[in-house]
Amino acid sequence: MTTATHEETLGFQTEVKQLLNLMIHSLYSNREIFLRELISNAADACDKLRYAALDNDALYEGDSELRIEIEHDRDANTITLRDNGIGMNREDVIANLGTIARSGTAEFLKQLSGEQQKDAKLIGQFGVGFYSAFIVADKVDVFTRRAGAPAEEGVHWESKGDGEFSIEQVNLDNRGTQIVLHLKPDAKEFANGWKLRSLVKKYSDHISFPVVMKAESDEGEKKDE
Ligand code: ADP
Repeated sequence: MTTATHEETLGFQTEVKQLLNLMIHSLYSNREIFLRELISNAADACDKLRYAALDNDALYEGDSELRIEIEHDRDANTITLRDNGIGMNREDVIANLGTIARSGTAEFLKQLSGEQQKDAKLIGQFGVGFYSAFIVADKVDVFTRRAGAPAEEGVHWESKGDGEFSIEQVNLDNRGTQIVLHLKPDAKEFANGWKLRSLVKKYSDHISFPVVMKAESDEGEKKDE
């Protein structure tokens, strides 16, 4: 990831800005749903790859053990989610992480009342996908490469959720998507192995791919799946 080229800063679609504003300023209860949303996206990406690979085994690039990994760093106050699913190319990233593709989401936004508790409940029921990362993070990095694409076609997306995002081309040896959440100071509680494990259990028990978490050194050498 040393050679970065073609960096561009782009603005979010208006609806995304609306949604981000809500995430950042008015959603304090039920913050933990970000993990459910991001794991669900990672599992979808693994499913998509499994399906695409039925016709083209080469997409696995020699690694057909689909999985989701979650790591945290208490000192850096970060959580990292990694999947070796289908990944995204530059166009995918701009379309998927810059706009709201689902027509239902715009409808959903209209239903929001501005009342925190009601809206949090709605979001919990409806799910707002990737953007929920900004409930707990004040900066999000996404590193992704589409399965089958060359390493130099990796993409680094970055945003502080403040109306724009930047995107650049990077070298990524591994296909799939890695999301780094730089947690807000008041979301430090999530950079904790026990907390993350209990949330994974609560929200993602039904996920059909292994969710792998390395334990922190002071939690022993346990590796959970
Ligand atoms: P939804 O998942 O409901 O479509 P999201 O906002 O969560 O909405 O995600 C938008 C799109 O971004 C997804 O449909 C998918 O195409 C893409 N995406 C999100 N996360 C990932 C991921 N981990 N791997 C590959 N693509 C992803």
